[in-house]
Amino acid sequence: MAQSTVDVLVPPHGGVLVDLLAPEGALTELKAAASRLPSIQLSDRSVCDLELLATGAFSPLDRFMAQADYQRVLGEMRLSNGHLFPIPVTLPVEDGGAIKLDTEVALRDAKNNLLGTMIVEEAYVWDREEFARQALGSTDAKHPLLAESRRWGPVNLSGKLTVLRLPAHHDFHALRLTPAQVRSRLAAFGRRNVVAFQTRNPMHRVHEELTKRASRAVDGVLLLHPSVGMTKPGDVDHYTRVRTYQALARHHYAPDRILLSLLPLAMRMAGPREAVWHAIIRRNHGANHFIVGRDHAGPGNDSTGKPFYGPYDAQELVTQHERELGITMVPFHELTYLPDEDRYEEGSKIKAGVRTATISGTQVRDDYLNRGRPLPEWFTRPEVAKILAQAYPPRAQQGACVWFTGLSGAGKSTTADVLTALLLERGRQMTVLDGDVVRTMLSKGLGFSREDRDLNIRRIGFVAAEIVRHGGLVICAAVSPYRATRDEARAMVGGDRFVEVFVDTPLEECERRDIKGIYAQARRGEIKNFTGISDPYEPPLKPEITLTTVERTPEDNAKAILGYLLGQGFVVSDEDADAAD
Ligand code: ADP
Ligand code: ADP
Repeated sequence: MAQSTVDVLVPPHGGVLVDLLAPEGALTELKAAASRLPSIQLSDRSVCDLELLATGAFSPLDRFMAQADYQRVLGEMRLSNGHLFPIPVTLPVEDGGAIKLDTEVALRDAKNNLLGTMIVEEAYVWDREEFARQALGSTDAKHPLLAESRRWGPVNLSGKLTVLRLPAHHDFHALRLTPAQVRSRLAAFGRRNVVAFQTRNPMHRVHEELTKRASRAVDGVLLLHPSVGMTKPGDVDHYTRVRTYQALARHHYAPDRILLSLLPLAMRMAGPREAVWHAIIRRNHGANHFIVGRDHAGPGNDSTGKPFYGPYDAQELVTQHERELGITMVPFHELTYLPDEDRYEEGSKIKAGVRTATISGTQVRDDYLNRGRPLPEWFTRPEVAKILAQAYPPRAQQGACVWFTGLSGAGKSTTADVLTALLLERGRQMTVLDGDVVRTMLSKGLGFSREDRDLNIRRIGFVAAEIVRHGGLVICAAVSPYRATRDEARAMVGGDRFVEVFVDTPLEECERRDIKGIYAQARRGEIKNFTGISDPYEPPLKPEITLTTVERTPEDNAKAILGYLLGQGFVVSDEDADAAD
């Protein structure tokens, strides 16, 4: 009985759902044998790919591609057996020469967990330029996959896989379903038609509207199938996204019309080819309809400012292959909100002169979340708005790091003291990591060799990054003479919340002040490696703020930094604070 209901669903691409998982009974023995094999460590991307190969999401593909598959996929979007397959799924490794053909290797994740084994049947060199041109349709360095591919090894391995364990996921356990599990859940709905929706963004009203329209149009079940493997760098994290999907599925869809399941797919951001691939993957999960909207899996603009793919290229390519895909595309026409009628309508059906309203993704961030303004209900369901507001608190509740750099005696600590008082006065708490103080605690025992200084700065950077990550404000004031190490600190904290303040006091002035008598000692040679005297100081090239302490007082300078923080929204202005009262 259960079998016959499963049969109402579309069969997998190629007819059979691939299953690479070793039988339960053989696991102990296989794991013991695998532990004695040489290992290959997989990238996060390859771990995602392995999971989808193992569970049949990429059916009929049952291994990382051999050269014949790879070349034909690049050239013709087909596997060597003729099946449509538009995206290369390969296992690039660093040191192909060290691996002997026809031997077995263990596959492990970044933490050395054993995932499976592979008999290495092929090792071949691949060409990045050709890959980019054919698979991505562009060799522009701004393509996120091309950028990432520079870190991939030069040799692709292929061979028979045995998967011993799927990658562990400790989040949203109940939503992590394999294609076979999705199929059996879908079959239980008792409907033949299933329309799948792919997404890598939080869902707003417009997405709710179009998915509901699609499932109504095909009289079927909606498979809400977000990608949660790797998406475009900078996307909203999947924890937050999935919470929005759960809230929507729970409160705004009829339970007998929706199945939410997470897809651990590592996206390629390859636009049209990726759309065809997404359709194949959803068919393998039992969907016979697939929603394709505007600029599906598009990575944004290239380095000349032009979009990588045309907005409807993906729809066109899917349409061309619809029959072979065995999946009907539901094209998503752009829906627009009509405030006077409080409803959404397709752009093409809106009469001239009718009032419309839209909010762009950038506006969501800059005009609403960063300022702590609630997203309007016509745009986002309140349940979703609340989750987004929690994940993206207003800037005045986000962390930031003010990083002073300059010679000893330049005025870093003095200015930091004044700034601290001005911030406390405005209700912001903060931590001060002053070089001299840090060296009595966190970095006690470190000297002034290049290694020790770098370690000191890295420690400060690490602590600062943790404080910022938890929404705190931190002021760091150390000489930090080396540019590269300051840039490391910037990278740890995150460039958009790192304010480098160059206290540009000339050496002569610092030496004239010589509050600790330390320059005199350095001149006498009693202190070695003294910054500015016997050790270099590398001034920042593009600091957010440069201060002079000769013409301006510490109060002037602290106010200038405060002004910058106000401008960035990290501190609430007096007017805004009054308005909020
Ligand atoms: P650093 O932390 O950069 O080593 P300090 O702030 O400890 O430097 O010392 C700077 C010294 O210079 C203090 O004695 C301070 O009073 C003096 N000074 C004079 N003018 C200024 C100014 N405009 N800004 C900061 N400090 C100044
Ligand atoms: P860094 O960023 O170079 O590690 P810190 O700000 O942690 O510097 O500490 C520098 C402070 O230590 C200076 O303000 C100075 O008083 C003192 N100091 C002692 N020896 C040196 C030195 N060789 N070079 C620079 N500062 C030194």
